[in-house]
Amino acid sequence: MDEELKKLYQLQQLDLELDELDDRGGELPTEVDALKKRGEALKNAAATEEKKLRELRKSRTDTHAEMQALTERKRTLNDRLRTVRNNREYDATTTEIEAADAEEQRLARFLVMLDTQEATIIKDIDTLSRQRDEAVREHEEKSSVMATIRETNSDEIAALKEKKAEMLGHVAPDLLRKYNHIRNAYADAVVKVRKGACSGCFRALPPQVLVQMRRGEQLFTCQHCHRIVVLEELVAPPPVATE
Ligand SMILES: [Zn+2]
Repeated sequence: MDEELKKLYQLQQLDLELDELDDRGGELPTEVDALKKRGEALKNAAATEEKKLRELRKSRTDTHAEMQALTERKRTLNDRLRTVRNNREYDATTTEIEAADAEEQRLARFLVMLDTQEATIIKDIDTLSRQRDEAVREHEEKSSVMATIRETNSDEIAALKEKKAEMLGHVAPDLLRKYNHIRNAYADAVVKVRKGACSGCFRALPPQVLVQMRRGEQLFTCQHCHRIVVLEELVAPPPVATE
């Protein structure tokens, strides 16, 4: 039993290393994903602003055309004013000229407003583009770090898996099944007994179990957490004697 338990413990060390390699990227994949989404959102926001800018410029062109038409109309009205034949015509033309003036002023105010809006939109597009460039750059950097980690890991993982496959041949299928079952609950399915206690849950093992364990004939599990327990001296090199 002891030899098998030793092998199982070694197998577990490989599994723990594999677990760690899996986790090595840490938060990186989540960050890379978030940066990608951020870049896309900023791009969409900039596109929306650019559409607004195009519409605004079209509106300005239209307004300029309206202004020009209005200037033409005022010239005609002023010409007419010089050739009116009576007061009624004079009043009517004057009213029209006043209306044209008011319209001209309204359009002028509208153009000023468009200029202000345009400046704001251009500034927003600039900010959004810079933020997007930053997100793209950060995404590229972190993606490349992630790729490097994955590449490095893949070699280590392959080596560990090879060792593990070899180790599997030395452990009885029953024991392996039990180990894998416990591993669903705890990464460390096999734990050392330290000072008479399970080092997984730190609860004491009954003294008679400790006695029986030393005979090395049976498999024991912790009655509290159900991890497989092994004697420390079995899996660790004997401690250096100290005075
Ligand atoms: Zn325990």
